[in-house]
Amino acid sequence: MIKHEIAVIPGDGIGNEVVPAALNVLNAAAEVHGGLSFKFTEFPWNCDYYLKHGMMMPEDGLRTLQSFEAVFLGAVGDPAKVPDHISLWGLLIKIRREFEQVINIRPAKYIQGIVSPLVNPNDFDLIVVRENSEGEYSEVGGRIHKGEDQMAIQNAIFTRKGTERAIRYAFELAAKRRGHLTSATKSNGIFHSMPFWDDVFKEVSQDYPDTRTASYHIDALAAFFVTRPQIFDVIVASNLFGDILTDIGAAIMGSIGIAPAANINLNGKFPSMFEPVHGSAPDICGKGIANPIGQIWTAKMMLDHLGHQELGQQVLDAMEATIFSGIKTPDIGGKASTQEMTDDICSRLKKL
Ligand code: ATP
Ligand code: MG
Repeated sequence: MIKHEIAVIPGDGIGNEVVPAALNVLNAAAEVHGGLSFKFTEFPWNCDYYLKHGMMMPEDGLRTLQSFEAVFLGAVGDPAKVPDHISLWGLLIKIRREFEQVINIRPAKYIQGIVSPLVNPNDFDLIVVRENSEGEYSEVGGRIHKGEDQMAIQNAIFTRKGTERAIRYAFELAAKRRGHLTSATKSNGIFHSMPFWDDVFKEVSQDYPDTRTASYHIDALAAFFVTRPQIFDVIVASNLFGDILTDIGAAIMGSIGIAPAANINLNGKFPSMFEPVHGSAPDICGKGIANPIGQIWTAKMMLDHLGHQELGQQVLDAMEATIFSGIKTPDIGGKASTQEMTDDICSRLKKL
């Protein structure tokens, strides 16, 4: 019997609705497998916790989480009660940083039965590997001078280590998929960091002669997401470029409520963290209509990460079948509740 110990942080808002849904699916998947079980340990760390204790998680919170194989998170943030910078930095960003989750992976795939803004979204099936620890989102820089001469300087940091590990991870992933990797660059406009990115990409590509590669400037690449989405398999991008591309990807899928994500630790010292792209959605919280797909798909990514790729594929199949059958939450054009959708996925999974 394989037993996985998972730390669960439902967080705020609809996190408390979609996380239990995804845990039901994981338990159903374990049942299907037969030789697998999960031990979920829940931590009530969210904005209400902050209002009571003055912090988003206890002092030894990270140490507590460290003993788990993975962290499964819903959504964090309740801006009406706690400013976002406190809730995000006090929990989410803290975990990502301290646990050295240097890679962010975001799959985007067209699912039949959901209306996409693209005329022909068929074959849209890609994964963005986003560098998650450095790049354009750096704190280096500042403002100098006053008045008319005032200026802001923002330095982007691209280390060889950070760049290479993101690119290498993307090559490994491409080798497991359709063997094609696209690099997002902008070396015609960004003078230092992007030519460096291109050099490292070229160097690492020598180690993967079987992988076909392409390199596009980010502006053209973003346009190709819309006009030629079929050309992509895996895309590797810097922190900022990856951020932008993944939002386009989620938009093409048809709802932010279905987009999954994972924050990956590569050195094995800390757990990775699995959290969907969407936020706590205070506007629909408590109505029982949150789309559970983003969280369930995120659970599928966790299954893959734990070594159960076949089971992960079955979860994805069940999920797609449910959507195709028309059992959908309102954000993707249906009338079903979170619960109805989840129950249908679980029962399909058990029948596969
Ligand atoms: P964050 O600041 O955490 O990125 P946000 O406030 O920008 O989040 P969300 O909380 O993701 O954004 O909500 C954006 C919109 O998408 C809202 O109208 C919300 O209701 C909707 N939404 C988000 N997630 C879901 C979901 N799972 N199901 C249905 N609608 C959702
Ligand atoms: Mg928000």
